[in-house]
Amino acid sequence: MQYRHSFHAGNFADVHKHIALLALISALQKKAKGFLFVDTHAGEGLYDLAGADSRRSNESEAGVTRLLAAARQPPDVLGAPIEEYLRALATLRQRLGGSAHAYPGSPLLAASAMREADQCVFVETLAQQARALQRVMDQPALLVRTAVRVVSGDGYQQLKALLPPPQRRGLVLIDPPYENPDEERQIATAFTEALTRFETGVYALWYPIKKQHDTDLWLARITRGIQQPVLAIEMCVTEPDSAVGLNGSGMLIINPPWQFDVDAAQWQPQLHDMLGGKSGTRVHWLVNEAG
Ligand code: SAM
Repeated sequence: MQYRHSFHAGNFADVHKHIALLALISALQKKAKGFLFVDTHAGEGLYDLAGADSRRSNESEAGVTRLLAAARQPPDVLGAPIEEYLRALATLRQRLGGSAHAYPGSPLLAASAMREADQCVFVETLAQQARALQRVMDQPALLVRTAVRVVSGDGYQQLKALLPPPQRRGLVLIDPPYENPDEERQIATAFTEALTRFETGVYALWYPIKKQHDTDLWLARITRGIQQPVLAIEMCVTEPDSAVGLNGSGMLIINPPWQFDVDAAQWQPQLHDMLGGKSGTRVHWLVNEAG
């Protein structure tokens, strides 16, 4: 069956990934010069948590819905990335007429955070989903101010063609469904090619955590040969070896912004606790801790 993100929108992994994404964008925006954001696996951009797919899986209950409930009594000092994510979600829902069930995907969250100087390219392989994403970007109520291009195609191929960006500043999100047995090779090749073309880019790869040991071996294979600093930030809501399936969410970041590790070590445990997690979080360098 073809992967449909509408079953998973707003689950704990989406929340973790989207907070990390907004934190990366915010770090890049500390400099006035614009940058290119590429989302190689973009999805539809906007999901209805009251829709049939979402209701069938119920995954958002333990994700965004739980976080919003916990945010009514937040910790004394809520991590800035969590706060920013909650603010972005509230703003988008308000722009959509107060919908309590709308959930933005990575392209909509990113486009909403962008300044006029920044540019976005969103790639989605399924033509129908790419069209849906284009419609989202065209909605006047969502006030997307930045230059946005939606491409229907293969994210890895497009990435090659887009690098290096003319601005010489860029952030790439790679968020595959991991249903293709060839995905590992495609990711490793994409990293090698992208770093050859644009070695200073910031690259973020989302990955699932099922069994921690397997994940660690996989991370070592994926990053073999990379010279740039590579950080991994992880949050498990159930013990990494339990049989529930998806136990945790990870983000591998090549060339992470300064202090991204320190910040993640603060906001990840908060997020874990707000989501009622029963395991923990981890921040670790896979290659060359940035100096
Ligand atoms: N990044 C999205 C978000 O956070 O809202 C979710 C993306 S979802 C995990 C993965 C998406 O990638 C699916 O919509 C799928 O159709 C699409 N996809 C699968 N293979 C692809 C490829 N080779 N190139 C581009 N998109 C692909």
